[in-house]
Amino acid sequence: MRQLTAQNGTEHETVITTKDADSGLTAIIAIHNTQLGPAVGGCRMFPYAQEAHALRDALRLSQGMTYKSALAGLPFGGGKSVILGDPRRDKTPALLRAMGTFVDMLAGRYIIAEDSGTSPDDMRVIGETTRHVTGSNAQLREDPSPATAHGVFLGIKAGIRQVFDTESLAGRSVAIQGLGHVGYHLAKYLTNAGAKVYGSDINVENLTRAEKDLGITAVSPHEILFQPCDVLSPCAMGAVLDEISIAKLQTQVIAGAANNQLATNEDDERLRARNIVYCPDFAINAGGIVDIHHQNNNACSDTRAEAIEHIGHSVASILERARSQAVGTQKIAVAMAEEQLNACPQKNYSLQRAAAV
Ligand code: NAD
Repeated sequence: MRQLTAQNGTEHETVITTKDADSGLTAIIAIHNTQLGPAVGGCRMFPYAQEAHALRDALRLSQGMTYKSALAGLPFGGGKSVILGDPRRDKTPALLRAMGTFVDMLAGRYIIAEDSGTSPDDMRVIGETTRHVTGSNAQLREDPSPATAHGVFLGIKAGIRQVFDTESLAGRSVAIQGLGHVGYHLAKYLTNAGAKVYGSDINVENLTRAEKDLGITAVSPHEILFQPCDVLSPCAMGAVLDEISIAKLQTQVIAGAANNQLATNEDDERLRARNIVYCPDFAINAGGIVDIHHQNNNACSDTRAEAIEHIGHSVASILERARSQAVGTQKIAVAMAEEQLNACPQKNYSLQRAAAV
């Protein structure tokens, strides 16, 4: 294992990359902020065309994790890791163990979890070489995706309420981009609530499963973002909302699980200008990490359910504050997260740990 760079750039505390010739691992870990606790964040594996794209993802995703945990009231900082490679072709036990060794170098400042392209089983393999892993203990842990989907469902209701003055989903139309772990469960919540669900996936198996099990209507991946609907729910990859796509949207609410849905900060204002209610991704998709935290603390099912309910209230207060101040919802959500960070008496978890050692 060779550590290529260790830099403190942008607003991040630490960004490190590694290339391990033996296992084929090329990966980046970004720690954005550890003011509230160790940086917790998923490990994304994706066949990035360029290393710069992977770095950008790690930087943006780790920042989102800081805000997500702060808004959800969790004792975690924000971090994220990315592995450059195709999970279907390149993922091997040796590569995952090398990733564990990489994580271990940070001595607990970063705690790895599953994300797109990695699974709880992968976390078990990573756990062979580091103990700084969450999501690997079969006894404690369930797949976080249903909890994430539940939080998104409650956020959708908050968005619907703001636009239509009712949170009933009966007869409302929702277009879901990505019917994977979260998208499938979300489609189930929505169809059970009487919504008309349109869905799209580039993976034919996932699309067919949702069509057969839930009766969703399939839409082409090229058209799903522009499907006329009440709610658009991006549940695949980030940066799908940019100047070009926003101009063509035919929805009133955007509420989905995907991280970093806005390509740039300006897109927040573009959505507001089009009168589209955007439920900020890091506020609405916190259900998984909230549930992991409560499972790890052996919380009862009522406490876990209450914690997820809080996401709906949090999204509602962001939307309300944005409306009353006439600014973008993302801007308000960031301000609310920073209020939480500033209210924290600790200043830096890693420095405190270093001082304590
Ligand atoms: P997943 O990989 O299981 O599902 C994503 C699905 O999107 C896949 O089925 C994939 O084929 C599909 N997809 C990819 N590109 C597409 C495109 N252009 N058009 C249509 N479909 C496309 O991932 P997931 O766990 O369901 O997570 C979805 C998103 O939510 C990711 O961005 C993830 O980071 C975010 N997220 C997930 C969780 C969680 O608990 N799983 C928590 C927070 C955020």
